[in-house]
Amino acid sequence: MKPNVAIIGLGLIGGSLGLALKRNPDLQVIGYDRSFSTLEQAFRRGIIDTIATSIENACEHADVIIFATPVNTTVAMMHQAVNWKLRADVIMTDTGSTKGPIMDAARQLLERGITFIGGHPMAGSHKSGVTAAKEHLFENAYYILTPDSQTDSAKVEQLRILLGPTKGKIVVLDSEEHDRMTAIVSHFPHLVASSLVGRLSAQQEEQPFVKKLAAGGFRDLTRIASADPIMWRDITTQNREELLKQLDGWLEEMENVRNMLKSNDPDEIYDYFAGAKQFRDDLPITSQGAFYMTFDLHIDIPDHPGIISEITKILADERISLTNIRIVETRTDVFGILVISFQTTDDRERAKSALSKTMNFSMYIV
Ligand code: NAD
Repeated sequence: MKPNVAIIGLGLIGGSLGLALKRNPDLQVIGYDRSFSTLEQAFRRGIIDTIATSIENACEHADVIIFATPVNTTVAMMHQAVNWKLRADVIMTDTGSTKGPIMDAARQLLERGITFIGGHPMAGSHKSGVTAAKEHLFENAYYILTPDSQTDSAKVEQLRILLGPTKGKIVVLDSEEHDRMTAIVSHFPHLVASSLVGRLSAQQEEQPFVKKLAAGGFRDLTRIASADPIMWRDITTQNREELLKQLDGWLEEMENVRNMLKSNDPDEIYDYFAGAKQFRDDLPITSQGAFYMTFDLHIDIPDHPGIISEITKILADERISLTNIRIVETRTDVFGILVISFQTTDDRERAKSALSKTMNFSMYIV
């Protein structure tokens, strides 16, 4: 008998998981979504083998159940799941970006002997829904699993093997550790990016031209502030405790910056920037970090007609897809006039090598 996987919620993440898992021809995937047109599309695209008529119907014979719905919805479903008819050896998991509320809800399932292992594939896209689902979404991205301390390690291994076709880098973490680390590298920077944009917006009435100047480095620095506000509202409320701790640390840091500015000691100011530069330069650039990101290539192109179409033609000939292309008008703090964004580091490397074969421009990865 082929193992059965039930995917609940067939949007970007659930749909991409379906496509990736079906690389294993021995799996049967049954899907459920509240939207019938999503289910139909998932079936037509080969994301699922069977459409379930209800959530219980999807889960009844499943060996593995994956909730890929918004976290609050997943929590509500996990409460209902206590009363569902399930296989005794079923493994349940989810894909939510925060793990605290999920692992709290998992407690009652674990008490009933149902294995629940939290999951978070750390890859996404600026698009959502089944139409945006891609087989390779999770390749080389960290895929975090957060089992409860009582969970049988053989079950964790079983889930790790099942998720193998995603080609994600599976890492097992404690759920609190997960939420603390994602607060540091993703959730809190998101708040800072939005607040920087808020500061710009508050001052643009007095300084109307400032918006134009913000088109370069400022826009790049605050790109994450353009992400889906509903998703970020939910993440912020779910990881509030960790965010408050991060905010305390940040206020302390800003107090130090204020003191540094007041004392105006050039050596101290130099050390502050040099320390940050050193640490940032040492951060890995080859793997996907937390959440959706693009991989930018900055190119110093001369201003002559047709140059952008020449570049895009080279990329099209090599079948390299790009997610964004833009000219940077304020270049005091960026490298290169043209910035092309790619979905993966691999695409960026291929683009760099294809362009360098025919064009002699400086290219930077920053
Ligand atoms: P999405 O909006 O693309 O898809 C969610 C799907 O769930 C939709 O098809 C929707 O119809 C379905 N759904 C919602 N409520 C439902 C219900 N009550 N019953 C059945 N189906 C229901 O969202 P997504 O980006 O795929 O995110 C899904 C989960 O993955 C979330 O928990 C999110 O935190 C997590 N996640 C998202 C990203 C990202 O960047 N988008 C990255 C990693 C993890």
